[in-house]
Amino acid sequence: MKKGLTLLCLGLVLCACGRQTSGVKHIVVIGCDGFGAYAYHKAEMPNLKRLAADGAWSVKVRTVLPSSSAVNWASILLGAGPTLHGYTEWNSRVPEIPSAAISQYGKFPSIYTLLKEQLPQSKTAVVYSWDGIEFLLETDIIDFVIPTHADEDLAADTAAIIIKREKPTFTFIHFDDVDHVGHHIGHDTPEYYAALTQFDARIGRVVQAVKDAGIESETVIMLVSDHGGVGKGHGEKSLLEVETPFVISGAGIKKGHEIEGVVIDYDFAATMAQIFNLQTPQAWRGKAIEEVFATNK
Ligand SMILES: [Zn+2]
Repeated sequence: MKKGLTLLCLGLVLCACGRQTSGVKHIVVIGCDGFGAYAYHKAEMPNLKRLAADGAWSVKVRTVLPSSSAVNWASILLGAGPTLHGYTEWNSRVPEIPSAAISQYGKFPSIYTLLKEQLPQSKTAVVYSWDGIEFLLETDIIDFVIPTHADEDLAADTAAIIIKREKPTFTFIHFDDVDHVGHHIGHDTPEYYAALTQFDARIGRVVQAVKDAGIESETVIMLVSDHGGVGKGHGEKSLLEVETPFVISGAGIKKGHEIEGVVIDYDFAATMAQIFNLQTPQAWRGKAIEEVFATNK
């Protein structure tokens, strides 16, 4: 029995060693527009809470200012703040401040740029229900660029099909409805929580697609948001607007870990780069969230 126990321990050790972040072949980033951290615990979101229980999470991620959409989605995907990438407003289509660095593909480098340059065989996808996303990215270098024009179910189903059929290296899916309800009915209202629960069902479909694709053991799933809100708006400086939730779950990620360190949303791109062992551009300012990794490299 003792020998059996020893073998079991050895097996666990080997198992733990095998959970290297470098073994991750796919990242799926699920973006929820307007998901304030204040709503995380109150919201009925079984799929997201399952990912968190099985991964690491925070309800204290900070946005950049203003606490608005384009400026923060840019920061999340481009690894730097607004005075560097240049997108400074809720609906920026071109940088209002000239980008401090330009990649060979024409814009401030994003996680897609790094994948194209350093993992040229990688397959990438962006599916987005808010059209504003496409102006932030070098869409020419992304294999699947699918706008769904505010159709959230189409976004979930399209992403699910692409994940199952193409098994992309990197997929970013943007959902807009939660922010929409925040603007039209109000944050922290029954309708807002209902929108979060509906969004959670779409998370479930994406997670199921990862399982159906047979890539669950080599995939990291992340939930990110661009800002919270108060009343019917956002963009200002209250913590209700500035704090967002974050969940990261999957291969090589700690389980049931509440993130203790400070996180700002441009740390996400650096975290993605670290998972794929990509070198980050000098112009990036984000830091990988080291404490989420089960095995530090
Ligand atoms: Zn908004």
